[in-house]
Amino acid sequence: MSTSPLAPRGVLYHWAEVLPLTGQTPRITLGEGDTPLVRSAALEGQCGLDELWFKLESCNPTGSFKDRGMVVAVAKAMESGARAIMCASTGNTSASAAAYAARCGLECYVLVPGGRVAAGKMAQAIAYGSRIIEIDGNFDDALNAARELTAKHPVALVNSVNPYRIQGQKTAAYEICETLGDAPGMLAIPVGNAGNITAYWKGFSECAEKGLSTLHPRMLGFQAAGAAPLVSGIPVLEPNTVATAIRIGNPASWSGAIGARDESGGSIEAVTDEEILEAYRLLAAKEGLFVEPASAASVAGLLKLARAGRTRGGRAVAILTGNGLKDPDTATAQYTPDITRSAATVEGVERALGW
Ligand SMILES: *Cc1c(COP(=O)(O)O)cnc(C)c1O
Repeated sequence: MSTSPLAPRGVLYHWAEVLPLTGQTPRITLGEGDTPLVRSAALEGQCGLDELWFKLESCNPTGSFKDRGMVVAVAKAMESGARAIMCASTGNTSASAAAYAARCGLECYVLVPGGRVAAGKMAQAIAYGSRIIEIDGNFDDALNAARELTAKHPVALVNSVNPYRIQGQKTAAYEICETLGDAPGMLAIPVGNAGNITAYWKGFSECAEKGLSTLHPRMLGFQAAGAAPLVSGIPVLEPNTVATAIRIGNPASWSGAIGARDESGGSIEAVTDEEILEAYRLLAAKEGLFVEPASAASVAGLLKLARAGRTRGGRAVAILTGNGLKDPDTATAQYTPDITRSAATVEGVERALGW
């Protein structure tokens, strides 16, 4: 069956049959989902794998996977009559919420931890026209405030504690099974508030039940060492890491993450900021994939397991959750660029290049 290239795209169109939609759910879209799955060109062997694939969630309309869940959460909020939405955010949830709110004519309120949101994400929330409140505190404090505010006022909460977010995000697992023809043996994923690892596990479990896959992947979650409550087993009061998207001390989907780990025979481990930034540089320099630091945690984790002799072939998918352009400050701090000035002449450029 061929679909017209003009047919509407997006999660609510492609995956309607696996989502809790009704005839009254508005079919909104920014063209989210259906992201590329790209085979590794360089790091596969270094990770000790037969096959390594990257799911480019950075290709979503606001540059992160958050759009998959946000489109469902916003559509269901509209269905129930909401005129306003709110979220706490380390940056990408607010960028996504603000975009869909702008698209749908809703008010959008975002609570962000003061001074800790990457510049590109802040620019998005501003450009889409959301009302931004900077909290004197971290993400966990902002989420507590957002929960109480939305219980008290007629505003829909669109954090991943909203079950429609998880429903939308699970569609990435369906896409992986559809593209590969089965689930991979391993799924490597960064873990912050733990909604996404919960959503992928739900998606893979449903695919197996529906006969769309024969395998359950081992779920390999990676937290930043300075924000690794799921590794230590206790909340972290002052989480810290260069990977601001996973700078979370008390994940809302704690039990979902532990369930995914244990039911899949996987693990949740910590990677240091140095390991994250090494993977960040390798992804850009060897694979041509410029991702934000949090996304590099999935590859940092695979490299770490490989160095410990704990990967033995097989097929893995690493989720690259967000675009490198979102955090230009970390990018510039990573490199001392070798840039030479030249006159705008052939001779000048030849001299500069030493030709
Ligand atoms: C939100 C986010 C994460 C973490 O996802 P959780 O569902 O909070 O675990 C990782 N990377 C990026 C780029 C994100 O925006």
